[in-house]
Amino acid sequence: MRVFTCQTCGQLLYFENVLCVSCGHMLGYLPEWATISALEPLQHEHWSALGANGQEYRFCKNRAYGVCNWMVPADSPESFCAACRYNKTIPDLSIADNTERWRKLEAAKHRLFYTLSRLRLPMSNRVDDPEHGLAFEFLTDAPDAHGARVMTGHDNGVITLAVKEADDAMREQIRAQMGEPYRTLLGHFRHESGHYFWDRLVRDGGRLQSFRSVFGDEEQDYGAALRAHYANPPPVDWQVHFVSAYATAHPWEDFAETWAHYLHIVDTLETAQSFGVKVQPRPWRMTEQTAAVDFDPHNAANIEQLIAAWLPLSFAVNSLNRSMGQPDFYPFVLSPAAIEKLGYIHTLVHGG
Ligand SMILES: [Zn+2]
Ligand SMILES: [Zn+2]
Repeated sequence: MRVFTCQTCGQLLYFENVLCVSCGHMLGYLPEWATISALEPLQHEHWSALGANGQEYRFCKNRAYGVCNWMVPADSPESFCAACRYNKTIPDLSIADNTERWRKLEAAKHRLFYTLSRLRLPMSNRVDDPEHGLAFEFLTDAPDAHGARVMTGHDNGVITLAVKEADDAMREQIRAQMGEPYRTLLGHFRHESGHYFWDRLVRDGGRLQSFRSVFGDEEQDYGAALRAHYANPPPVDWQVHFVSAYATAHPWEDFAETWAHYLHIVDTLETAQSFGVKVQPRPWRMTEQTAAVDFDPHNAANIEQLIAAWLPLSFAVNSLNRSMGQPDFYPFVLSPAAIEKLGYIHTLVHGG
């Protein structure tokens, strides 16, 4: 994610900002321009977007709930923005705190959409493609203790997110129970989008053979594989072959985990590039290597270019976190086999 600035006063802005605290301008994100824009009011709830040469926009309908800051072109027939249009079921807002949970879910979902659109990945919603289009369901567990528990997952284009995952204490508890080093809403969205793009790019894209040569045979029983994964510890040498322990469960999960890491890496490298972060740890300096992100990670030449920038950066930021007594921001080790799988994702994303 790049850093944004207010067109009026130059203040640095986050992707989620709705108001420039420096000059008082309202702000909105313009997906077509991939930028946050300062807004000046016009008539009929239209706004002139300074980041788009004054073009007219409206707020996404979900701005009223404080869960979206994206804009819709004023002449568009749509009332929801390019990201909110994919919602099939929003959280039950009659439940206390669900609006705040929804806000966290949307913040992560909008960041996912930013990266997917910067990578120019093909997407269609349920209106454009009623059978296979992408849609999101944010579901709450039944109130009684014996009722059905919502499981986060993907099924034929529909991504379900358990609303309880937006509860920090609840998510942390699940993370610890599962023995996971990393569990975030953004990680969930990136992982589940991997299943959607597997359907589109691998299965429907005629790439099953190349997929199997890298990730293995996905025709093995998925339900049985997941049950076995939860019943047994992962293989002792999983780190040699997989990016995470969960990736060992089934080739589909391996793909989705690796896909999520590809998005983690591309987005975080863009943030580093945007801030001019240059990492030059001593051991690397000895070999005269400097890791500067001087390329657009969305258009990286190959996986080697991404990894060469990523390894020293993630090591440096992990060290910064440790200095603050925080857990590692990237608590993973990328083995050569995992990097090869990331290379497969890279080729897939760029149409190869
Ligand atoms: Zn400003
Ligand atoms: Zn929206």
